[in-house]
Amino acid sequence: MSRILAVTNQKGGVGKTTTSINLAASLAAIGQPTLLVDLDPQGNASSGLGFPKDDVSQGTLDLLLDFADLRSVLLPTAVDDLHLVPATRQLIGAEVELMQVFGREMRLKRALSDIEDTYRWVVLDCPPSLGFLTVNALAAADGVLIPVQAEYYAMEGLGELLRTMAEVRKALNPTLAREGVVVTLADSRNNLCRDVTEELRQVFGAEVFETVIPRNVKLGEAPSYGQPALSYAPASSGAQAYSALARELLARHAQPTAQRRTAS
Ligand code: ADP
Ligand code: MG
Repeated sequence: MSRILAVTNQKGGVGKTTTSINLAASLAAIGQPTLLVDLDPQGNASSGLGFPKDDVSQGTLDLLLDFADLRSVLLPTAVDDLHLVPATRQLIGAEVELMQVFGREMRLKRALSDIEDTYRWVVLDCPPSLGFLTVNALAAADGVLIPVQAEYYAMEGLGELLRTMAEVRKALNPTLAREGVVVTLADSRNNLCRDVTEELRQVFGAEVFETVIPRNVKLGEAPSYGQPALSYAPASSGAQAYSALARELLARHAQPTAQRRTAS
């Protein structure tokens, strides 16, 4: 069975795309077939894997509007076991186009329904808003992975995200879970980072991943080479942190829930 993760936070610049690319690549590197779907019209996940949106003719929007099926829009990447559904330039029109179609919130779920066991993980890189694209991701997902930047006001906006998730549970996807919260862009294990992690733990408890993603220049550079950090700079602290996050995610799923709760 595949597990679908929506990487969501309506704040921009918190590390959604960096997390999507590098977590997906790390899962693939452990031998877990993974599909990354670029739901952000900016197309940063696509260009970060070597497919700039001007170079691809079909992608996420074609899936959502039923112009193409999954198999015909996915691209193999340079990373073994990692496939991509890219964003095209036209994805910018999605919010308006979806407004006019029947079953607009369920389009992605339906499009992903025929992958069955092809992938172990499907990672959805969401745009920085809570519009139809994100709602499609939440409706299709098993779990929501929330990257939170280690900064003052880190928690700002999370209430709105949690309320949107509650609405989606009520109306579209009753089993939507919180996959976890990951602290990103941490300057070092300094006081601010500890404070943010502490504050998050008060709200999310053991859902906060032990792995903290450091601010690391290689994570910022890798996308301009169209590669995940694990290919561009495998020994870097950023690549290593995302590998650790992938392992932590796998370990959580290997453990029964009861043990997981008492583990921390
Ligand atoms: P979002 O998708 O939430 O908008 P991004 O993942 O695109 O955020 O990150 C915003 C910017 O910060 C990008 O330029 C990205 O390369 C950079 N960045 C993200 N995470 C890190 C990190 N851990 N270390 C260094 N740069 C990072
Ligand atoms: Mg992004």
